[in-house]
Amino acid sequence: MGKIIDGKAIATALQDRLREQIAYFSMTVGRKPKLAVIMVGEDPASTIYVRNKIRACEAVGVNSEAYRLAESTEQSYLEELVRKLNEDRSVDGILVQLPLPSHLNSKKIITLIDPKKDVDGFSEVNLGSLLLDDKKGLYSCTPLGIIQLIRSTGVELAGKHAVVVGRSNEVGKPIALMLLQHNCTVTICHSKTMDLASYTRTADILVVAVGKSKLVTGDMVKEGAIVIDVGINRDAEGKLCGDVDFASVMPKAGYITPVPGGVGPMTIAMLMANTLKAAKGNV
Ligand code: NAD
Repeated sequence: MGKIIDGKAIATALQDRLREQIAYFSMTVGRKPKLAVIMVGEDPASTIYVRNKIRACEAVGVNSEAYRLAESTEQSYLEELVRKLNEDRSVDGILVQLPLPSHLNSKKIITLIDPKKDVDGFSEVNLGSLLLDDKKGLYSCTPLGIIQLIRSTGVELAGKHAVVVGRSNEVGKPIALMLLQHNCTVTICHSKTMDLASYTRTADILVVAVGKSKLVTGDMVKEGAIVIDVGINRDAEGKLCGDVDFASVMPKAGYITPVPGGVGPMTIAMLMANTLKAAKGNV
């Protein structure tokens, strides 16, 4: 029977440590770190994510500024706002909540964010830093959180076979790079992978970031594996569920993250950690 990796508890402990570090920063520097969050339109999931991020700021002592813009916002307006926030010395971190409405060019907006303020770690410069293992960069929050969750098990990562399902720039690719840096042997699977189960069954560490309810079932998992479920989906009854079929995988896994209460809370905690890191570089 797999042990549950309690992401909520681990994130709470991390936020407690961050609150102290942020208080120390604020005392010594004479101001709190500040995060600017931009959201365009009223996507219901994004609205909840932004609300949770603002709440996390309040909980750890980060000042936040939320820009809730109309769906019809033009590219030029958004670019101008990002430029203004880049210039503003009082702003340490800038986050543009994705996805943006389809008429906007997300890539261009993300590229425009000053890499030193890119607390989501999505920019070319920060992805390049990750590739080159340059610790000065700001790395993507979800993969950073996943590494902490895996390390919380106490299992040695070096030499383990890690299989990542999904190859997005936000999760799949960066987590694969981080696992490589922890000396795992890494396989990346994606939508064109043939016979997915033949790969997932060989994983000591399995990270699933696809966005398909219960894609990974018990018969696809190796006995004792660490299973990290990144997916956030709704099942047929509208209940929140992951990419992993928890009921059938739990008995086989060594460790498993639940949805909700696994990767999600860690992502937000790592955003706070990145904001502090960015603030320390902006004094
Ligand atoms: P994405 O849509 O950008 O990428 C999905 C990936 O899955 C693609 O690389 C695709 O090749 C792969 N894929 C699709 N179908 C597949 C299949 N049948 N077999 C194997 N691979 C397949 O998604 P993303 O941004 O990486 O997010 C993935 C999921 O994680 C979503 O549910 C998202 O909501 C969730 N997410 C959660 C958090 C969190 O904090 N918990 C953060 C980011 C994303």
